Amino acid sequence: MVGGSPMQAVLMAPGVKDRKVLAFKRDAPKDKDGAVAGLMRSISAPAGTARSAFFVFDLARVVDLYSGWRRALAGVRPFYAVKCNPEPALLGALAALGAGFDCASRREIEAVLALGVKPGSVVYANPCKPEAHIEYAASVGVNLTTYDTEEEVAKVKRCHPGCDLILRIKGPDNADAKVDLGTKYGAQEDEVVPLLRAARRAGLKVAGVSFHVGFGASCTDVYRGAIEAARAAFDAAAALGMPPMRVLDIGGGFMAGATFDEAAAVINDALAQHFGELPCVEVIGEPGRYFAETAFTLAARVIGKRTRGEAREYWIDDGLYGSLSCMIVAGYVPRPRPLAGPCPGERTYASTVFGPTCDSRDKVVSEYQLPEMSVGDWLVFDGIGAYAASSGSNFNGFSTSDIKTYLAYSS
Ligand SMILES: *Cc1c(COP(=O)(O)O)cnc(C)c1O
Repeated sequence: MVGGSPMQAVLMAPGVKDRKVLAFKRDAPKDKDGAVAGLMRSISAPAGTARSAFFVFDLARVVDLYSGWRRALAGVRPFYAVKCNPEPALLGALAALGAGFDCASRREIEAVLALGVKPGSVVYANPCKPEAHIEYAASVGVNLTTYDTEEEVAKVKRCHPGCDLILRIKGPDNADAKVDLGTKYGAQEDEVVPLLRAARRAGLKVAGVSFHVGFGASCTDVYRGAIEAARAAFDAAAALGMPPMRVLDIGGGFMAGATFDEAAAVINDALAQHFGELPCVEVIGEPGRYFAETAFTLAARVIGKRTRGEAREYWIDDGLYGSLSCMIVAGYVPRPRPLAGPCPGERTYASTVFGPTCDSRDKVVSEYQLPEMSVGDWLVFDGIGAYAASSGSNFNGFSTSDIKTYLAYSS
């Protein structure tokens, strides 16, 4: 951190400092439906600036989440997974707070380096990389990447021989996870030794081990098994006479709230058990959703309406091909509420809300109770910072990147 309070450091951060930051009170008594709604009402009012869907990003929330991480996982430096939400103000804020970055492509590396992040604070954490992207990493000095195949060793050797490797292992099965990355990535137990040997043959150093337990499992105990499996890989390398590994990367999958504290307790306990006697090992994590999800709120505008008997159908200007792609990519469950706020005793209707594209699957909610709304009204979606803006498309000419983000600072 640059000095001063964490919030000051964030306000001075690249990606933030040249933009307007709107202040709002977290506990404003008039805004019982969520303090951010008051701010959104002023942004979307006739005298405001927004005419179409927009995000509000609360920087103070990131400051709080960062200190929550530091409190619960004191020894684990977070390397924020850029793919979750590459909003420059979020990247800049996290860099100012001391985070490193997990990048998966040339563009993601460029985005963080452009904010002044040092290449040593970047892990190129995509186990299967296009050659041109590896060459780019070599040219800017990003010298740490993950792998889980022998083909990747050969490629890294060819394109970036000075790069150190992190062996991505597949943790224990996590079948109830909403997003299970283990079906695509991670070396199986019997592949660990051959992959370590392949790196040694190529003259590449294996600096450590990583895993990603997936997201949305009902049980945080998966971290324990994964840390145990990582220790076994450390021991396998030692048994092969390879130089001691120095990094343990516990990946992502964290969610802010009670389950985070639960996961942290499991992790701290497993680290003490399996890595307690290896004090020189640096433990890092790759949280994405943890930092992004709850810091963003979306307002989308009603642009069309149909009344069929008692049923109400609305079209809004964002949908499954835009920010609400997070419904598909990350299991986001939309619970929109009218920005106008609740009116006591107001009648509600079973409503369908469609996105703006011509695909009939572009449907956000159905049979969902909403009060009567009109074209020009707004719907609010809370906790929509993860895999939303980052995974939308330009389908039908509705460009997700046109959705504006207003920076805010709650106190
Ligand atoms: C997506 C991803 C992350 C972030 O995952 P979250 O569930 O958002 O925390 C971390 N590491 C890797 C390698 C990833 O692919």
